[in-house]
Amino acid sequence: MKPVLALLAVAACAGPSQGGDHVAAWISDTSSYGPALTPTVSIADRYREVAANILAAGHADRGAYAKLAFLTDRIGHRPSGSPELERAVAWAAQAMKDDGHVVRTEKVMVGHWVRGVEDAALLAPVARPLPVLGLGGTVPTPKGGLTANVVVIHDFAELATRAAEVKGAIVLYDVAMPPWSETKGHAGYGVAVPYRTAGPSLAAKLGAVGVLMRSVTPHSLHTLHTGALSYDPAQPKIPAAAVTVEDAELITRLAATGPVQVRLHLESQQLPDAESANVLGELTGREFPDEVVVIGGHLDSWDVGQGAHDDGAGCVTMMQAITILKKLGLQPRRTIRVVLFTSEEKGVWGAKAYAADHAAELGKTVLAVESDGGGFSPRGFSLASKPEIKDRVLARLTDLASLLQPIDAARIRPSDHAGTDVEPMIASGVPTLNLDSNNRTYFDIHHSEADTLDKVDPQQLADAAAAMAVLAYVVADLPERLDAPAP
Ligand SMILES: [Zn+2]
Repeated sequence: MKPVLALLAVAACAGPSQGGDHVAAWISDTSSYGPALTPTVSIADRYREVAANILAAGHADRGAYAKLAFLTDRIGHRPSGSPELERAVAWAAQAMKDDGHVVRTEKVMVGHWVRGVEDAALLAPVARPLPVLGLGGTVPTPKGGLTANVVVIHDFAELATRAAEVKGAIVLYDVAMPPWSETKGHAGYGVAVPYRTAGPSLAAKLGAVGVLMRSVTPHSLHTLHTGALSYDPAQPKIPAAAVTVEDAELITRLAATGPVQVRLHLESQQLPDAESANVLGELTGREFPDEVVVIGGHLDSWDVGQGAHDDGAGCVTMMQAITILKKLGLQPRRTIRVVLFTSEEKGVWGAKAYAADHAAELGKTVLAVESDGGGFSPRGFSLASKPEIKDRVLARLTDLASLLQPIDAARIRPSDHAGTDVEPMIASGVPTLNLDSNNRTYFDIHHSEADTLDKVDPQQLADAAAAMAVLAYVVADLPERLDAPAP
């Protein structure tokens, strides 16, 4: 870390004078500066000084962590439809106003599911309590609970071959999430999660009366992890709950030698849709204010833990990114708009509403970036877009991202998926980015009681906001649009 800090310290000494207007002067009047400053000069060379200033200021800034501390410790978790989510909406709007930004909220109707009393027990071959956490959106069990034998399933192919045994049973999906790896990152989440989302209805189709899901996590200290399920309207809705990795493996071992009986009791309720809002805060552009760089995260969380990494961290990263720029007196050519999407977890309600409400201006949205992978030290960005613009956007971003080398966040990679909340904009031609981070522990705490502020490192969060501020500033300030054809 020492060389990085030294570099940042040097950059900090340069002060905020190398601002947007200064850079703009370099670019708009190339003739007086000779060939070295023609538009063929790399983006990184054009913005090197201002980027160093932003990184230095962001590295020393603790505003993102202060915001996250209020959101998590004073408001807490923020499930869709809850009063806490609406308190978070009001707080975020006020916090961005207090930082001097132009703020508005946009009404969105959202789903409202609430967890009730939940308990379960192993009845045979041993009797003991079985901690459970209902999957988001689950129907309740019949009053008093349901009791049935468990059929352990390891993949959908096995489900099909054991259809006769599944009828009248509780299906346990004991599917392990493969851990993070350097080459595949968290691709393992995509291996396990279809059993949580589609598994209940596929089991119901074969006559199962309930589902238990091995918590989707690569590492467990007896932690329960929830997450949304998605019922097939053509099938009966059956109750579904997560069990710990440890209990999934215990049941699997017991079931290998004889019948296992479980009692499951859930009292969840689906209430009428509730009113919520997306929160928008802007640093208005000085030259093309109607062209927009969207940077966002989702303000809601599950109803466990504090939603600290998921996705309080993403929200405060974006909020602080424009505040860092504002404090430095930087106003890019285009508008940078922070969008705090509501109700992502229970069906992406806020993002779908945003894409629909802003359909007419998506042609002027030059980029949309999301942070929804935790508030860890930044690694770079992954790009998902229409194929016809991908190469040129990738080329400009790769050039730009070299400005993030001092904090080791210069990796740019193409991807099929950038972020759930920005994804609805891709069809309108908007390139979308995910802020990638060193988040290998993210799924250890994701959607669990363990997603709390103590898991967030203030310095890593500050560097994420700094990286985001550099990227948003430069994309918003470039003379040419990010997706413009190469000259
Ligand atoms: Zn999230």
